[in-house]
Amino acid sequence: MKVLVCGGAGYIGSHMVRRLLGYGHDVVVFDNLSTGHKKAVSNVPLVVGDLLDAEALRRLFAGRRFDAVMHFCALSLVGESVRDPYQYYVNNVAGTLNLLRSMFTAEVSRLVFSSTAAVFGNPRARFIDELHPTCPINPYGASKLMVERVLADAARAYGLRTVALRYFNAAGADPAGDIGESHEPETHLIPNVLRSALGLGKGLKVFGNDYATADGTCVRDYVHVNDLADAHLAALDFMEGREGAHAFNLGNGQGFTVLQVIEAARRVTGKPIEFEYATRREGDPAVLVASGQKARDQLAWTPKYDSIESIIDTAWRWHRAVRY
Ligand code: UDP
Repeated sequence: MKVLVCGGAGYIGSHMVRRLLGYGHDVVVFDNLSTGHKKAVSNVPLVVGDLLDAEALRRLFAGRRFDAVMHFCALSLVGESVRDPYQYYVNNVAGTLNLLRSMFTAEVSRLVFSSTAAVFGNPRARFIDELHPTCPINPYGASKLMVERVLADAARAYGLRTVALRYFNAAGADPAGDIGESHEPETHLIPNVLRSALGLGKGLKVFGNDYATADGTCVRDYVHVNDLADAHLAALDFMEGREGAHAFNLGNGQGFTVLQVIEAARRVTGKPIEFEYATRREGDPAVLVASGQKARDQLAWTPKYDSIESIIDTAWRWHRAVRY
């Protein structure tokens, strides 16, 4: 297939590109390089542009035919979204609408959309399945839920086929160690823990130790970035046989507190990894753990990285030899 990967120079997108190439697909990457890296996609055509730029989109689709689009472009930091919601709604919602309209004009009728566990807000069950109410508690989650609603309407009105994949906490890196997570500033837990193991960064902070969890720190479900990429491939197959807008939760179904992640990283790295407690981060739910049952049943997707140590180990390989 010919696949357009929007946001393909970013963390999850670049792992997706590698997976697609590995399966013999043709790939074009569209990315504004705001958080992505040219070096992460050195072996595929890269069109540098922004979803908010109508002319850039026109040029992207002109003279190219795509069988499907994978859409990873987004601002994705909970805290930042609380501080600057306009930026999140413009980028994540208006940007996606521009892409959808370009796809409509170009008659591209398959989309895999990167959504998030943040569409659910505070969980009302131990494992979050697809029937769990969506009630986001921050603008980031709200912006992704708005797009999911647009996709449902587009399926009905225009016959667009879509799969929204709600990632829980994407983590790890390709075991080759040459692509990985690289944000500036870095806000995610595992990269910050590993940077601290390397003596980099300003010192690790744990945001909040007064949550109603086993040790007072937040619980998250960490899922390997290559497992996420595999779910996208399965979604392409899934859309061949089915009309409509579909959504799947992607996680390992296991929750780890921040302290458990630090403990696992100590085991993997053999480093002490000191930290300090800090106040809670705005917009953080206490617990987010997926039920991956629907993805297992309907996408035949089973995460291969099912231990937190194996995920951290691949991230550690990347962080010891960061190339961008
Ligand atoms: N966290 C932390 N210190 C950090 C980064 C994150 O204590 O330096 C916590 C954060 O408050 C949350 C969890 O780790 O409870 C996962 O945060 P991350 O930003 O990695 O992912 P998110 O759950 O926001 O998507």
